Amino acid sequence: MSGKDKRFPLPLSSVVDKSSGRAQPSRQPQPRVATPQTATQNATLNAALNAALSLSRSAPVADAVQTRAASRTAPASPERTARPEPMVSDAVRSAMVARVAKQGVKDAKVLAAMSAVPRHLFVEPGLSGQAYIDASLPIGHHQTISQPYIVARMIEVMRANANGGALDKVLEIGTGCGYQAAVLSLVAKEVYSIERIKPLHELAKSNLRPLRIANIRLQYGDGMLGLPQVAPFDGIILAAAGLEVPQALLDQLSIGGRLVAPVGAQRQVLQLIERVSKFEWTNTTLEDCHFVPLRPGVV
Ligand code: SAH
Repeated sequence: MSGKDKRFPLPLSSVVDKSSGRAQPSRQPQPRVATPQTATQNATLNAALNAALSLSRSAPVADAVQTRAASRTAPASPERTARPEPMVSDAVRSAMVARVAKQGVKDAKVLAAMSAVPRHLFVEPGLSGQAYIDASLPIGHHQTISQPYIVARMIEVMRANANGGALDKVLEIGTGCGYQAAVLSLVAKEVYSIERIKPLHELAKSNLRPLRIANIRLQYGDGMLGLPQVAPFDGIILAAAGLEVPQALLDQLSIGGRLVAPVGAQRQVLQLIERVSKFEWTNTTLEDCHFVPLRPGVV
């Protein structure tokens, strides 16, 4: 991107750093991390959730969020006719948010954002019935959509700044399917999100397009380099775990800015890094977590 000032909003991918389009040589050993959740674990959780929500008597969650086209072709039971798809998906989403709150997320703005974003639109249709369980789900290319609790928790931690939660620019590393970017768009003025896997960058674009969110800018590139041309950021969230947080990202935090990242390999912890001055950052370890690995370069 050129050095001249560009006013927000910028068009999608207008912040492309040409140099980040090339694969970077690996600078650190690749951590071997197990996939966060297997489909089997998720299916078990889903069954438990169906029971807990008592939606399973005649309309399992999987059916509750089925596409309208499918609803039309399926012989509709009277109960289904009485409960159109969007309402049921709202109910299931409310139940998800209630669980996230029960797990300790208190920030009302974050919970409201989670209530507003239709998570089932970010997973492939075959998995939409599991979209509201508290688990990560596969999105292809060995990557996952993060579990709702951790999405909410990270944003809550990022918002707990000295400005009462006000966030101008935030950066997400690891767009994946675009879900967390959509949630972030409701708590920050401008959201920049970088993805290193081209088909996922494209997937996020097509998932987000129908939602017409004006303040998200998607970037295909190596998030370990950040977006120096847009920095500084009030908040940075990493949706993938490295052995350490890249210095480039620390440098792109504003003073008073907060970065939240999973750090580690087999054992990972969620870390909060606050920039307290030009050359000073503080580091707080929050809790154990489980993310896909942060990798250099693009594919
Ligand atoms: N934010 C997503 C989570 C995606 S999973 C959600 O809403 O659920 C983490 C993503 O990080 C993967 O898509 C992976 O490809 C991406 N990733 C890993 N290393 C990266 C890097 N260096 N730069 C950008 N994205 C990266």
